[in-house]
Amino acid sequence: MSARIPLSEPTFGTEEEELLLQAVRSGYVSSVGPLVGAFEEEFAAAVGSRYAVACSSGTAALHLALLAVGVQPGDDVLVSDLTFIASANPARYCRAEVGLVDAETDTWNLNCAEVVAELHRRARRGVDQPGAIVAVHVLGQPADLAELIDVCHQLGVSLIEDAAEALGASWTSGPLAGRQVGTVGRVGCFSFNGNKVITSGGGGMVVTDEPELARDVRHLATQARLPGVAYRHDQVGYNYRLTNIAAAVGLAQLRRLPELLSARRLVADRYDELLGSEAGVQLPPDLPWAARSSWLYSVLLADPATREAVRLALDAAGVEARPIWPALRTQDPYRDSIVLGGQTALDIAARGLSLPSSAQLRPADQQRTVDVVRSTLARLRG
Ligand SMILES: *Cc1c(COP(=O)(O)O)cnc(C)c1O
Repeated sequence: MSARIPLSEPTFGTEEEELLLQAVRSGYVSSVGPLVGAFEEEFAAAVGSRYAVACSSGTAALHLALLAVGVQPGDDVLVSDLTFIASANPARYCRAEVGLVDAETDTWNLNCAEVVAELHRRARRGVDQPGAIVAVHVLGQPADLAELIDVCHQLGVSLIEDAAEALGASWTSGPLAGRQVGTVGRVGCFSFNGNKVITSGGGGMVVTDEPELARDVRHLATQARLPGVAYRHDQVGYNYRLTNIAAAVGLAQLRRLPELLSARRLVADRYDELLGSEAGVQLPPDLPWAARSSWLYSVLLADPATREAVRLALDAAGVEARPIWPALRTQDPYRDSIVLGGQTALDIAARGLSLPSSAQLRPADQQRTVDVVRSTLARLRG
């Protein structure tokens, strides 16, 4: 019996051990510490943003981003429907309403044409614009944001990119060519949870080119504490800063980002090759105008029953595969949300399956995974 193949596990080496030891020995453990600043500086440089503020999770990053762009109770925030629930929850922390945007078939990301039409419709009718739009780069595939960005500028709407799954992905042609995800909206948010492209154990980053936004995010993340020794606070803030210990691991991982990204790309390319000829499998988006970051390699199967049969067969063979998240409109807290667009998110959610995608996934384990997918589909065909 071979070892179980996990969905996505981190890759650690001596770099992480050394920096972690340095952090522990330095005595700086919590959010005052030199490695937090170093992590922020190197992260900003790596993605091509002016400012980066490290925080305790990707969810906290999104919450801070919404607060910083001024989302108020009663505003509405438009969010991708096909995503992990943490993309939407922070809007509710702000007591804003969530409007969901259906996915598009090409990218699995929010349908930007629907959003553009909605913003124009509101402008014509003189209705309030959304407090913010949270566009998720789902599974590492960049969203097609160019036109939406222009319209957001025109109409004064704040675009927040949820790039939690997409660190290192970029646009390669069109108006956004050369830009990395997270850097084209007003604010971009990243996650360093254990299963993401890089990890700090747990953590997140807010990036922006606007100095006032960066300052506000940093202030809100540190209990809105004013400088000085007097414990003075000018608002209700949060304890959302990243610790120096976590920054040590995050910084070591960041320094290995090119290596980790190319390892994941190799995994994705191998899946493309091994599964490309399998009629019952639709490969994930990989569009000519973008370079994806290949977070969880996810395929579409013919129907929900086939998806479940393949998942169970993989599980029995010791391979961890997972359904893509249910669309948010089907999750209890979001059942009453309005939805822009149609049923695409429901369709992808019903048929999507994420396959093992760790950077260090061995070719033999990948072959084993693909063999189980193929033999199950052959068995189902009868
Ligand atoms: C992981 C994730 C988050 C939340 O990040 P945490 O660090 O786990 O809080 C938010 N949005 C998306 C799309 C994610 O995948």
